[in-house]
Amino acid sequence: MDKLYIFNYTLEELAKSLKEHFPAFRAKQIYHWLYVHYESHFENMVNLPKDLREFLAQNYTSTSTALLKKEESKDGSIKYLFKTYDNHSYESVLIRMKEDKFTLCLSSQIGCKVGCSFCLTAKGGFVRNLEAGEMVYQVFAIKKDQNIPPNKAINIVYMGMGEPLDNLENTAKCIRILSELDGLNISPRRQTLSTSGIAPKIKKLGTLNLGIQLAISLHAVDDDLRTELMPINKAYNIQSIIQEISNFPLDSRKRIMFEYLIIDSLNDDLKSAKKLVALLNKIKAKVNLIYFNPHQGSPYKRPSKEKVEAFREYLLQKGLLCTIRESKGLDISAACGQLREKVQEQIEVKV
Ligand code: SF4
Repeated sequence: MDKLYIFNYTLEELAKSLKEHFPAFRAKQIYHWLYVHYESHFENMVNLPKDLREFLAQNYTSTSTALLKKEESKDGSIKYLFKTYDNHSYESVLIRMKEDKFTLCLSSQIGCKVGCSFCLTAKGGFVRNLEAGEMVYQVFAIKKDQNIPPNKAINIVYMGMGEPLDNLENTAKCIRILSELDGLNISPRRQTLSTSGIAPKIKKLGTLNLGIQLAISLHAVDDDLRTELMPINKAYNIQSIIQEISNFPLDSRKRIMFEYLIIDSLNDDLKSAKKLVALLNKIKAKVNLIYFNPHQGSPYKRPSKEKVEAFREYLLQKGLLCTIRESKGLDISAACGQLREKVQEQIEVKV
């Protein structure tokens, strides 16, 4: 890719890169076209002078990532597949919540190194990190596709393909670009980074003071089971994560979210609930129970509603905030990596 990818630029960087030829306010105008009008074709940015539009066309590109396919679920969630300049693909999911609220689940990598046993993305191995702009493009393209007004507040979760802390530099840059007041203006408080628990990188994230929400994929309360589900637990066990979380700089109004993928007969019993309460005893935490969403070839099963509700009831009784997340999009390729897997062959042939 010879040209510079426009979505990779923070507003400050864009202003700097134009500085020799154009005044700084031109960068704001370009940001406005991209993130308020959802217009990425430089020739259509009609209030820019012709020489700037030509300069942009010669030096920058806005088309190195493209929307390849989307699938809509009966529950309103939509899964998007994007194609990269180097012929790979990655996914995002738009989840429609109650009262027309939107949550956008972004990918941070193509594939993943972490290798969780319940995850389809892990099965495809790791390809590469997404650039910040490739992450930003997911928001740009989906807001444009769905005609979501620029001032409509949406939530972002970094919970799609990949481990965002394994791509921390680009993820942090994406967070900054999405937060830009003259652009998408998505408050960091509305952005949640979800990690498998790479303890030293949680520490590093804390030093960046991004102001985002943090979620930890815990999924088990003892190390043996967690290592079975998430081999990374061998390197960073439950105690090391809890230790790092205890030191994480947190806004007094915020809580750390602990994601708990609840799997039939594996971690859905009250003994596990009791251990979870003990583990999170000293942390300002809330727990999100997620129904396991089975995919083809998966050894795990979806738990019963009764068991999940009993688990939640126990946590609530003990004063631990807890919500249950229904898997959205069960009728589409909803497990992360499924849509990508389905169409990867087609891309390899067609592109
Ligand atoms: S669940 Fe997330 S961290 Fe684990 S392998 Fe899949 S993408 Fe990676």
